[in-house]
Amino acid sequence: MLTVGVDIGGTSVRAAVVHPDGSIVAEVRAAPTPDRAAVLDDTVAELVGGLAAAHPVTAVGLAVAGFVDPDRRTVAFGAHVPWRDDHVVDRLTERLGLPVVLEHDANAAGLAEHRVGAAAGASVAVLVALGTGIGAALLVDGAVFRGAYGVAPELGHLTVVRGGRPCPCGKRGCLERYCSGTALGRSAEELIAASEDFSLLRAAWERAEPVTGRDVARAAEAGDGLARRVVDEFAEWLGQGLALVADVFDPDVVVIGGEVSASASLYLDGARRRYADEVTGGGHRRLAEIRPAVLGGHAGMVGAALDARERAGVQG
Ligand SMILES: [Zn+2]
Repeated sequence: MLTVGVDIGGTSVRAAVVHPDGSIVAEVRAAPTPDRAAVLDDTVAELVGGLAAAHPVTAVGLAVAGFVDPDRRTVAFGAHVPWRDDHVVDRLTERLGLPVVLEHDANAAGLAEHRVGAAAGASVAVLVALGTGIGAALLVDGAVFRGAYGVAPELGHLTVVRGGRPCPCGKRGCLERYCSGTALGRSAEELIAASEDFSLLRAAWERAEPVTGRDVARAAEAGDGLARRVVDEFAEWLGQGLALVADVFDPDVVVIGGEVSASASLYLDGARRRYADEVTGGGHRRLAEIRPAVLGGHAGMVGAALDARERAGVQG
C-alpha cells in the first residue's frame, strides 16, 4: 500500500514513504542537489534504498524541477538539476528494482492537492505555486493536462506588462516578475528607492542586502506600511493573473501553493476581489474558489508517490 515520492528540487532532494491517504510515514533528505547526473542517481538510490529497507514500498515516483518529456520517461532539462535528456525512468527502474514513474514537480504538487488536498473533487483545478517564480499545474477531470508537447501551462510567463521587468526566460513583463516571492522583494526595493517613507525594510536595503519575499511578508505582518502596499499590489497582480487563467480554463478550484502561500492571509482576500472584478462576465458566472494549498512543502513528494501508486498499477 505504500509508495515512495522523491522531490528533486534546486536545493535539495527529499524522499518520503507515503500512505494512500497522503500521509507521510517516513521522510529523508539530501542537500545540496548534486550537480552531476551520476551523483544525483546515487543520491536517489541511497534515499529510496534506505526507505525501502525499512518499509514495504511497491513503487517510486519522481517529481523533478525540470522539463519532462511528454512520454514521462526522460528529463530533458532542468535549470538546477543536472539530468540532460536523461532516460531516468529506465535507468532508475533497473537500479532500484521497483517501478519508477516521473512527473514535473508542479504537476506532482497539483496532483497531490487534487487527490488529498485543497482541490479534492474539483472538475477543473489549477495549482499556482508562488515561489522564486510561478509553477503551475492544470488538472481536468482529475488528469494532468500537459499540452501537446508537455510544457503547459506556463502561467508565470504570460506577458502582463509589455516591455516590463526582464525575466530569466528571455522575455519581459512576465506575470511571475510581479507575482512571486522574488517579485515581492523586487517591488519592495523599487518602492524604497522611490520614496522616503519609513520602512522596517529600509535599513537592509541601505546596506545593499537583497530584500526577500519573506522579509516583505514579515514586515507586512508587523504592520509596516510600505510592505503592506507591496503586498496589496502583489494581491492585485495575483487576482489579475487568476482572471486570465479563469478566462481560458474556467476552473472550479484554484489552489495557491508555494513558499509565498505561507502568508496567504495577507493577500488572498485582495486577490479574490481583483479576480472577481477582472474576470470576464464577473457577477454573471460562477467563480472559482481560491484556496490556500494544504500540503505545503510536502506536495511534490506526496503527489509523486500517489502518481506512482496510480500509474505503476499498484493495488491495495
Ligand atoms: Zn518569463
